[in-house]
Amino acid sequence: MSTLTAEAADSAVADRGQVCTRCIIDETVPGANFDQNGVCAYCHLHDEMAALYPLTPAGEAKKLAMIDRIKRAGRGKPHDCVIGISGGRDSTYLLHLAVKLGLRPLAVHFNDGFGNPVAGENMTRATEKLGVKLLTITSDWRESKDLKIACLKASIPNANMSTDIGLAAALFGAAAKHDVNYILIGQSFRTEGIAPLPWNYLDGKHLKAIHDRFGTRELRPWKPEDPGFHLGSRELFYYIVRRRIRTVPLLYYHDYVRSEVDGLIENELGWVNPGAHYFDDLYQALLQNLQRVKFNMDRRKFNYSALVRSGQMDRDDALEQTSAIYALEDPKVIDLCIKRLGLTRPEFDEILVSPPKTFRDYPSGYDTLVKVRPVLKILASLNLIPQSTYLKYFKYAC
Ligand SMILES: [Zn+2]
Repeated sequence: MSTLTAEAADSAVADRGQVCTRCIIDETVPGANFDQNGVCAYCHLHDEMAALYPLTPAGEAKKLAMIDRIKRAGRGKPHDCVIGISGGRDSTYLLHLAVKLGLRPLAVHFNDGFGNPVAGENMTRATEKLGVKLLTITSDWRESKDLKIACLKASIPNANMSTDIGLAAALFGAAAKHDVNYILIGQSFRTEGIAPLPWNYLDGKHLKAIHDRFGTRELRPWKPEDPGFHLGSRELFYYIVRRRIRTVPLLYYHDYVRSEVDGLIENELGWVNPGAHYFDDLYQALLQNLQRVKFNMDRRKFNYSALVRSGQMDRDDALEQTSAIYALEDPKVIDLCIKRLGLTRPEFDEILVSPPKTFRDYPSGYDTLVKVRPVLKILASLNLIPQSTYLKYFKYAC
């Protein structure tokens, strides 16, 4: 699967430093903080989250109570929840699961110009077979491109932040427009893992600051039902407090076994694997390459660690796979992404060698969030924000 030379593979292995004795998180991952037994902080966070979302009869009862709340809130409305779908495995399965549990989702796809056609066909087939309405929200390409280039020029590790924010904003916007109170998200800490904050930091204020500095065109103003790329504190207040829109990580409550899911969605929904994980979005090829070359980051480390902890992947196998360059870094797809952004190869190469920065180098909402941490703890205990968000951002923040 790899095209890596033996020499480069050796250097990738040599770069690891200490490796967690339980998963494959190593010293290159910020916040690894190994304990006296050599177990990383992410393993402890995993255990804490597994206790919050147990796969036991009690956990199952919690899941069913949640489903019941969603159904009650949606009574008399055409939809009771919004589900963001990409045509990839996790979101396709989430949609399938929601329908099997008797929910009436509105499927929302956010298209920012880098969708994989295979994933697109998956979405059409799955929604047709499940009888679910599919709403595609296409971002303003000029804005999407300008923001992506701004993130690249800012040299931040989370160079795809604008798409993450645009997607979240699109889901809130669709929920507001269709009078829906719940957004189901397809993440699962058991299979996808927990991203280190410095690798994954995002917030609307941060994106705006980066765009103000590196962007070249004005963004359209925020409208509640057409938010574009705006999701700062004002917008979040509107959606979460005024419109009472909640996000629910449904797969947290569910025994999600990745290897069993492929067969199920292939047989029932005609799903076709779009390639390596996350390849529902072609931009992931460029992102993976940029993050490895410029930031010595490999997101497979926390993805595979999650599978190792959940007993869904062999640890040695995970170590071996991550010692080679990920097949996702397809040079042809990377070239296509560069071209689609309107950049030349030398311009992209310049971005690759410019000094790396962190989210701390630009204004963000992080310091404010830290100040209001006790309030967030209360909100989490009231289930107004997911408990997992609190744990992830604050208890283990580095
Ligand atoms: Zn670990």
